[in-house]
Amino acid sequence: MTSCYPQQKQQIIAIGRLLSQRGMVAANDGNISCRVPGGFLITRSGVAKGRMCEADILLLDAAGQPLSDGPGRPSSETAMHLAIYQSRPHTGAIIHAHPPFATAFALAEEDLNQAQLEELRIQLGTVAMIPYAPAGTPQLAANAAAALSDKRAGLLLRHGAITAGADLEQALFRIEALEQAAKIVWLSRALR
Ligand SMILES: [Zn+2]
Repeated sequence: MTSCYPQQKQQIIAIGRLLSQRGMVAANDGNISCRVPGGFLITRSGVAKGRMCEADILLLDAAGQPLSDGPGRPSSETAMHLAIYQSRPHTGAIIHAHPPFATAFALAEEDLNQAQLEELRIQLGTVAMIPYAPAGTPQLAANAAAALSDKRAGLLLRHGAITAGADLEQALFRIEALEQAAKIVWLSRALR
């Protein structure tokens, strides 16, 4: 059987591998999605992002209901991706991961924007501080869509990071930029 959207699935697999190699996800952390006509593709629940195959990426309709009958359930954070797509018509891809430096700021509930780092401002503008709700809940989906609004990246307080972009490459750029900025801010504190 031929797979739907093989090019997008291969790109999601490659990004999952990169996130894993760079320590931005561990075990089955994180989720990756991209919009396709009539719905979106999303990583399945429980899969290690560094070791995915095309069957680990599920096709959902525009309401988040599975369209492929392959094994597995969609990511537990599907509602969060769906809420963001519904509120942002021009967003084509979303990446959620737990990059250690960005997640440290999220855990400390510390506003990364206070750092005034020029590259952060240029690449990401203002980073959203997304109020805490338990992972996988409708409340977290609502909080993420509302706080992210039209921003490029956000810290999910006490949890991790999320970026949105026109396509997968742009969402990846943004999570790389977010983690790099958080790391630099962290390092600069050692010099004080
Ligand atoms: Zn998470």
